[in-house]
Amino acid sequence: MSNQARQMLKQVYGFDSFRKGQEDIISGLLEGKDTLAILPTGGGKSVCYQLPALLLPGTTIVVSPLISLMKDQVDALNRLGISAAYLNSSLDAAAYRDVVRQTSQGVYKLLYVAPERLDGTMFESLASQMHIPLIAIDEAHCVSQWGHDFRPSYRQLASWIGRLENRPPVAAFTATATPEVSQDIADMLGLRKPNVFVTGFARTNLSLSVVTGTDRRKFLRDYLAQRPDQSGIVYTATRKEAEEVCEDLNRLGVPAAKYHGGLSDQERADAQEKFRFDEIRVMVATNAFGMGIDKPNVRFVVHWQMPGDVESYYQEAGRAGRDGEESECVLLFEPQDVQVQRFLIERSTADAERRTIQLNKLYTMMHYSRSDRCLLQFIVSYFGEADVPSCGKCSNCLDTSARVDITEDSRKALSCVGRLKGRFGVSLAAKVLKGSREKRIIEFGLDRLSTYGLLRNYVEKDITDLLYYLVAEGYLRISEGEYPTVSLTAEALPVLEGKVTVSRKQSAAVKRRTSESSAVSAANSPLFEALREWRREAAAREHI
Ligand code: ADP
Ligand code: MG
Ligand code: ZN
Repeated sequence: MSNQARQMLKQVYGFDSFRKGQEDIISGLLEGKDTLAILPTGGGKSVCYQLPALLLPGTTIVVSPLISLMKDQVDALNRLGISAAYLNSSLDAAAYRDVVRQTSQGVYKLLYVAPERLDGTMFESLASQMHIPLIAIDEAHCVSQWGHDFRPSYRQLASWIGRLENRPPVAAFTATATPEVSQDIADMLGLRKPNVFVTGFARTNLSLSVVTGTDRRKFLRDYLAQRPDQSGIVYTATRKEAEEVCEDLNRLGVPAAKYHGGLSDQERADAQEKFRFDEIRVMVATNAFGMGIDKPNVRFVVHWQMPGDVESYYQEAGRAGRDGEESECVLLFEPQDVQVQRFLIERSTADAERRTIQLNKLYTMMHYSRSDRCLLQFIVSYFGEADVPSCGKCSNCLDTSARVDITEDSRKALSCVGRLKGRFGVSLAAKVLKGSREKRIIEFGLDRLSTYGLLRNYVEKDITDLLYYLVAEGYLRISEGEYPTVSLTAEALPVLEGKVTVSRKQSAAVKRRTSESSAVSAANSPLFEALREWRREAAAREHI
């Protein structure tokens, strides 16, 4: 079977060999195994379900979250001479009926559907007339990310699959899943003893960087001027900004188009075509653009603002360099962006528990924006992969400013948190370390702790900053839940015992000198604005 797959790979796609993971995934699927495959963006997931679809009798169903993504894939398959179609809301009634009829006649090897299409008797009766050898769930993180709230159809997938007469093997594909999300996907889809493939999250052809405290417009102009023949994506958080940035670029003579949910299907399709065929250089878009878009030569992805979590960031940034060539991902980080994302979360219709999880994810994204670890390592370890060497080319790896030893202060901070026994949040811990006389400190008798006032020479926000640095470095953890509290991790013990030292890049650590003058300039920096905001929020959520 595997030989046949290899021949097919050459014959249909023109590829000489499989990429990492592809062959094993395909032979598992041909043997009828449920599968959960986590391959990096650009890793070649489509081939993993398309080849089995070609080799197996019947029509494989591919569940896909976005109309643009379905269109892209179906167009590409049709160009390869493979009969494929999609069912989604972009079809008018006649076209829809047409596809349904042809499907029931077994015309297609692959049928792409939005999860919403599967609900309802119409599709059930169609499915009963089909032979379905395989169900592939593309971009399967959507099951976990969206199934819980605004696309409940994702949650219904398992029961729909269960109602099929002969349950076919089910394969879920994604590029970004933490171990918890993987489990959630497997549970929500009801996978049966799935083969699990994780080929590694590190995209070593990407150079990641975080840029703070700069004029975004000027940055982008200079950035584009330095690479006149490259094409890329600029992601903005809002439609309005996408419009503005695009206009700005056009005024500068940079061929750019915009893409967001407020445009008509036609406008979006046009923009996408132009980008794919290099008629425009820059696509300015909200996150409505790009999932699964296969433009190989995207040389850069600039984030005008940070997205709400590391998953989204890596998905979006990962659209650079799908051809394996060196590419850049730049995150422009400013404090108010944290607020924008927070408002989005707080206004969402998700339940309280979900919102808390999202807020914590937002904090992790913020840690990324200000950590001084290798950025690629940061992301990869977030997805649960250990022992990946530092990349040597992210903005942190290239930051040669010396590291300073902050072990003493760290020990003081850690011992204080230890004393608080996981009952309080970061802002209160900072107040105790500062030796604040605030009412609730006195009421709780925290001024009698031996660690009270241990860092009284620092301004309080710098203590807060230190605590969040220790969170980012894994010595402290912040609980999930409505009132997040801070506590020690196992990593903290060797530091407290004096066996391990803690250090920090001088460029970041220097801000935490005690003198008021440096405190004042630090207080005006965007980073501290964000921290103040962050702290206010933490304070608001501490119910004391
Ligand atoms: P993703 O994992 O992000 O869904 P795609 O399936 O879109 O990735 O594939 C990314 C690119 O890699 C596509 O251009 C695809 O044609 C190419 N590709 C996939 N498999 C192979 C292979 N075995 N050899 C060469 N190119 C491949
Ligand atoms: Mg894909
Ligand atoms: Zn690095």
